[in-house]
Amino acid sequence: MIPASFEYHAAKSVEDALALLGKYGDGAKLLAGGHSLIPALKLRLQSVEHLIDLGRISGLDSIREAGGKIAIGALTTHQAVETSELLRKKCPLLAECAGHIGDVQVRNRGTIGGSLSHADPAADYPAAVLALEAEIEATSAKGKRTIGADGFFVDMLTTALQPGEIVTEIRVPLQAASTGSAYLKVAQPASGFAIVGVAALVTLDGSGKCSRVRVGVTGAAVKGYRAKETEAELGGKAPDDAMLARAAERATNGVETSGDIFASPEYRAHLTRVYTRRALAAAVARARKGA
Ligand code: FAD
Repeated sequence: MIPASFEYHAAKSVEDALALLGKYGDGAKLLAGGHSLIPALKLRLQSVEHLIDLGRISGLDSIREAGGKIAIGALTTHQAVETSELLRKKCPLLAECAGHIGDVQVRNRGTIGGSLSHADPAADYPAAVLALEAEIEATSAKGKRTIGADGFFVDMLTTALQPGEIVTEIRVPLQAASTGSAYLKVAQPASGFAIVGVAALVTLDGSGKCSRVRVGVTGAAVKGYRAKETEAELGGKAPDDAMLARAAERATNGVETSGDIFASPEYRAHLTRVYTRRALAAAVARARKGA
């Protein structure tokens, strides 16, 4: 299908994009990789009067270490995240997660800022950024503010971004010593979107007990979430298979799992618990190997 007509603006800088957003207000939308927005426009699920293309802004696609974190520009493609040597070495969970997104074409065009801003309940990144307790930097005409991943995803396709804000950077912590992580997903066979995806991050202390456990879940519900009861269950304990299974059983406590033609709410809940156990087991094995 062909989208309804709109005016196209190629922003030259973040300031230029902000000025255009200010000028056109509700009639404007930002364009990054276009791999969520363009299909929605073509299907006429969305319409826009002014499309502000961020794609020509330079400097928003870098991955660099700064202040004990890794800062990733919002326009960084999934492919660049997946293949970044810096991320693979110092924050492997995000690179592993990016490698699970869609197919080569999607990974070459789609951006981390676009994916997070779109907040698709079946997107992969929410699980990883929640487990990593990442920070999302939003820039507006008033300046910059930082939103923690835990408060960023508000509802289906809804984030804490305010009108006039642009995601400019995502910051993730460097992986601590004796830490292992894993992202596992059940993919929808055609699109690759997550029916359920689970990111686990486990840090072991000198005696092999969990000093930090973080579990991010995507696909299971209307928005990504942290499985905090699972995390708490493992805190301070030396994990074995039975313990991981017990903790994983709590991964959907208090969560209303979604149902659609791919999976009923009950099946999604079951998959979430199974993939939480598997992701935790993989993370623990990697933490032990690296310890
Ligand atoms: P766009 O489509 O350009 O924008 C998406 C939304 O975010 C728009 O509302 C836009 O206005 C807004 N936006 C964009 N950038 C910013 C910004 N910097 N600040 C504020 N708002 C912004 N995703 C997965 O996670 N897993 C998959 O398996 C998967 N499979 C896919 C398969 C197919 C066939 C396709 C077409 C897409 C798939 N995707 C998947 C989605 C893909 O990852 C998209 O790239 C991503 O969701 C959106 O990123 P984008 O850069 O393309 O954003």
